[in-house]
Amino acid sequence: MATYIFGHTTPDLDSIVGAISLSYLKNQLGEDTIASRQGEINPETEFVLNKFGFEAPVLKTSYAGENVYLVDHSDLLQSPDDIKEATILGIVDHHKLGDITTDTPLECWIRPIGCSNTVIKEMFDYYDIEIPADIASIMLCAILSDTVIFKSPTCTKIDTKVVKELASIAGIEDYKALGMEMFTVKSDVAGATAKELILRDFKNFEIDDKKIGVGQLEVVDLSLFDNMKDELHKTMQEIKDSENKEIVMLLLTDIMIEGSQILVCCDDNTIIEKAFDILLENNEAWMKGVMSRKKQITPFLEKAYREL
Ligand code: MG
Ligand code: MG
Ligand code: MG
Repeated sequence: MATYIFGHTTPDLDSIVGAISLSYLKNQLGEDTIASRQGEINPETEFVLNKFGFEAPVLKTSYAGENVYLVDHSDLLQSPDDIKEATILGIVDHHKLGDITTDTPLECWIRPIGCSNTVIKEMFDYYDIEIPADIASIMLCAILSDTVIFKSPTCTKIDTKVVKELASIAGIEDYKALGMEMFTVKSDVAGATAKELILRDFKNFEIDDKKIGVGQLEVVDLSLFDNMKDELHKTMQEIKDSENKEIVMLLLTDIMIEGSQILVCCDDNTIIEKAFDILLENNEAWMKGVMSRKKQITPFLEKAYREL
């Protein structure tokens, strides 16, 4: 029976590439694994897979009775609905520890670094398995994406070192230019609806029993959104109402000037203002230097609710 390897719901580049690269490693180690995904791939991922000649992993949303490895998450909310009926053989991640647990011992590689694919590169080194040039290329792209070309506060020395090593394996000299090419593709919001944009990179969290959703769009120029703000706010309210959420937030991150315009939909804005020490005007605020949802947003929301 094959083992499936997949990343979180609403998969990003790290989740898709992590499934492919970890599956390759595991197969080299004699396991029989298949890379899969829980949802549609985003435009950035499509660009990277096309550029380096990869197919998207198989779409599969139900895993009852299967053996699995999880990549880029350890939260029940980001895993398939029937994950409790699967056997989790291992987790490879770089987020806070989530609420997934297992009945049997598992392999766990969770490190506070910039990208799951950096962790996977360390696994390749640990097992002394060579990385093919095409897989090195997409792993490199995943790290550039997650670390926002090294600008994110989540980026560590290990990530920059691993990028250099992967670039040399892949024969890619100007990897920063490749990173900019990816973020230019990511910045193409033309033709997408407000809902598609909000949900393109959206994470659900629960703090106690409160449901919170935070979307993020990382672009090279925030003026792209100038004419869309009303529609974005309106759609965030619809998502909040229909999913019974406490907060829906959207980070519009400008990767060039390094900061985020946050759009907030919440019944009581004071909790947000307190969490981030900001003042909201028309349910928005500019947050200088804020690039990372996992490091600069969610921990502060947790703290604000705990102190209520
Ligand atoms: Mg991810
Ligand atoms: Mg990641
Ligand atoms: Mg990200």
